[in-house]
Amino acid sequence: MIDKTAYRQAMDLSDEQLLHYNAQIMLPEIDVSGQQKLLAAHILIIGVGGLGTVAALYLAAAGTGQLTLADPDQVELTNLQRQISYNYAMQGEAKVNACQKTLNALNPEVSLATIESSLHGELLERTISQADIILDCTDNLKSRFEINKTCFKYAKPLVCGAAIRWEGQLSVFVPADKDSPCYQCFHNPDSRLNQSCSANGVLGPVVGVIGSMQAIEAIKLITGAGELLIGQTLLFDALSLQWQTMQVSPRTGCEICGQRV
Ligand SMILES: [Zn+2]
Repeated sequence: MIDKTAYRQAMDLSDEQLLHYNAQIMLPEIDVSGQQKLLAAHILIIGVGGLGTVAALYLAAAGTGQLTLADPDQVELTNLQRQISYNYAMQGEAKVNACQKTLNALNPEVSLATIESSLHGELLERTISQADIILDCTDNLKSRFEINKTCFKYAKPLVCGAAIRWEGQLSVFVPADKDSPCYQCFHNPDSRLNQSCSANGVLGPVVGVIGSMQAIEAIKLITGAGELLIGQTLLFDALSLQWQTMQVSPRTGCEICGQRV
């Protein structure tokens, strides 16, 4: 049972907010101050496919103050196997609009902005510079390298997720932490390897696991709870249900993160 009077005096949360977010306010690592930070946070989700829809649902439910959703695509029947912000009737709608509708119904308190476009160049820079944390939920390597570069340019924490077939991957990069590598420290931008779920298949719940973990790391970044996944990449194999941890240090001479002072 929470002492609503004490909380209201301390942090000016409404009775409805105290009820709504009670389960996470009860966690000492979050508490009322963590909830206040969540309510003040602005998270950018690039790509609202399998990963992005799951992360967006949890971050909206948690009371993130502002979510910006970016994606150029429309909802298709083949998406519905894993992209769980969408339903059958939403086929043909812009994904960002359909996702906005679902999130607004889930939590009207969240301020939602949408960009129905791929983010590159100046638009990517402007959008990243305005957010507190960036979730890379895209499905192509070219975007991943550009997002990584721009996050380091504007010193924004980046939570990267990927999933294909029965496998998932999660990394967190924090430019302000000198122990943090970047995406380009261990991926080659000249690689021609660009696998997509539509060409290779993916199990829906695998995407759900990784998207949920992206939401977890975003909430930890905002609230300061726990320890972040810095200097490590997690690899998930659903067939054996095993996780592997890969240690990743900043690569000497990396042209993206090697410039930090
Ligand atoms: Zn690097």
